[in-house]
Amino acid sequence: MSLENKVAIVTGAAGGIGFAIARRFVQDGAKVVIADLDDARGAAAEAELGALGEVRYVHCNVAEKLDVRNLVAATLDAFGDIDILVNNAGIVVGADFLDLEEADFDRVLGVNLKGAFLCSQAVARHMVDKVKDGGTPGTIINMSSVNAVFAIANQVPYSISKGGMNQLTKVAALSLAPYGIRVNGIGPGSIMTEMLASVNSDPAAKARVLSRTPMGRVGEPSEIAGVAAFLASDDASYMTGQTLYADGGRLPL
Ligand code: NAD
Repeated sequence: MSLENKVAIVTGAAGGIGFAIARRFVQDGAKVVIADLDDARGAAAEAELGALGEVRYVHCNVAEKLDVRNLVAATLDAFGDIDILVNNAGIVVGADFLDLEEADFDRVLGVNLKGAFLCSQAVARHMVDKVKDGGTPGTIINMSSVNAVFAIANQVPYSISKGGMNQLTKVAALSLAPYGIRVNGIGPGSIMTEMLASVNSDPAAKARVLSRTPMGRVGEPSEIAGVAAFLASDDASYMTGQTLYADGGRLPL
């Protein structure tokens, strides 16, 4: 699998799974834009990965249309093209159904789902224009979750956002297939990042997670990056509209 000379945007890539994807893409030969709203960690990520290849950090809140517009412009300015978009930025707000605040519902849906839509639409417009000019079609990868399929009681907007993400993958795949642009998703199980920090620091929660994971361990961000590298590459050239689950066997086998 090679991403030689491809240009990729990875959102939420200042840390966690997004950073691992950015690292893998750079190692595979891509030029990578790290899009995030944490400027300190974004700059550190740019410096670390910049030692491996061509990397830029661009400040972007994916829930803000103007930021997304700027992200596309800054990427074209830096690298002249966009071949790959990974909609990875995501947040969790834990609250039971009866207690959830409207503002938290809006915030999670705004980042996880609307953000993915805004980035996809902005980047797809560039990709479609490129195909019409005789260029190579690009590809989009959406970060979903096993929570798209099964619900967790205190993760109401998160589960809803990821269910929506799977459907976003399908409708975008359908709309963009005539241009050869592929759209797929990844549904991680429990992956060792800051998002999982509360689980890691609570032995009972960790035991609960592991008891639901047939492989008996949480995943590493690099194990999700490997799936992203496959979906982004020409090895996945006839795949679109699919969400691949990398979850240690957590979804019912
Ligand atoms: P993380 O919290 O470690 O990292 C998320 C990154 O996104 C951070 O750098 C953060 O600054 C950035 N971010 C947050 N809001 C943003 C916004 N509005 N615009 C741009 N960037 C923003 O999370 P992670 O565990 O690496 O998760 C990455 C993705 O994987 C998320 O979509 C998450 O839902 C999904 N996922 C994670 C797990 C897991 O167990 N860690 C499981 C399933 C799915």
